[in-house]
Amino acid sequence: MSVVLHVTGRVLAGPQDVRDELWVVGGRVTYDRPAHAGDVRTVRGWALPGLVDAHCHVGLDAHGAVDAATSEKQAVTDRDAGTLLIRDAGSPADTRWIDDRDDLPRIIRAGRHIARTRRYIRNYAHEIEPADLVAYVGREARRGDGWVKLVGDWLDRGTGDLGACWPRAEAEAAIAEAHRLGARVTAHCFAEDSLRDLVEAGIDCIEHATGLTEDTIPLFAERGVAIVPTLVNIATFPRLADGGEAKFPRWAGHMRRLHERRYDTVRAAYDAGVPVFVGTDAGGSLAHGLVAEEVAELVTAGIPPLDALSATTWGARAWLGRPALEEGAPADLVVYDEDPRADVRMLAAPRRVILAGRVIG
Ligand SMILES: [Zn+2]
Repeated sequence: MSVVLHVTGRVLAGPQDVRDELWVVGGRVTYDRPAHAGDVRTVRGWALPGLVDAHCHVGLDAHGAVDAATSEKQAVTDRDAGTLLIRDAGSPADTRWIDDRDDLPRIIRAGRHIARTRRYIRNYAHEIEPADLVAYVGREARRGDGWVKLVGDWLDRGTGDLGACWPRAEAEAAIAEAHRLGARVTAHCFAEDSLRDLVEAGIDCIEHATGLTEDTIPLFAERGVAIVPTLVNIATFPRLADGGEAKFPRWAGHMRRLHERRYDTVRAAYDAGVPVFVGTDAGGSLAHGLVAEEVAELVTAGIPPLDALSATTWGARAWLGRPALEEGAPADLVVYDEDPRADVRMLAAPRRVILAGRVIG
């Protein structure tokens, strides 16, 4: 019989569901004290479900795919920060081997990014034209774990500004194909002009979504299209704009404006009822392990702390179809010294990370 864990203090089983203790038996959560507990290890503190980073890239760095040792290091960094469930928002590397490792976070993959030719970071995406979109979306829907990732807009060298990548008709056919195969679709979108077409084409989620306006926010709310703002990534826009200013001044100005209004955009979307989730965009140019910073950024934007927590715990898990701390759920949880609802910055210092019922470290 494996070691039994007794987690005691406060168990935040749901936003309104606080309990005094839980047990981990056979790697699973139970609220019933086991009858024949042999060796019991006690962990005290404030327990939350393992955090979710809904926009993270394992197996990727600034130059493209990385080897297994580097991917492992990325996954360990996320895990030690309390991220125990990742929605991988596109990776050219094959990280399937991670599924056999119960000491690494669970990964829900979106396959490889699908971008328009020469309209994304080099070595990341399948770079294709709209006529091939349905076929590639079908292929990545089969390869992934229920998600497909499009690059919805990017710098257009012709106009010198951000511009939409996919015509409405092709996007609609491709999203329908993904849905037919049981996959949801999300898209990277910085600017305004791709959003209405993608939502009307049936998309399920938008990454970054800095271009949301009072025109498109009601549409997102009405259709229940989620956003993953990745504010820790949006913080890099001024630096990107400075770097591209000489060649693409229109683009640089646009990026600065999107950055300036980022908190207002997120707050307006939240107020309108758009589902907002935590994602860091780790793995391209950003470091792994920034989940606590992103939660704090959502609070800075004006989202109440309990909802910002839910965006990386209960709410995010429900959205991704994974359990939180229900009876019988896999025992993936994080324990803190103090109440993270009182101060979300507490997330930056987990006391104990418990993955698949085992205390890490
Ligand atoms: Zn990304």
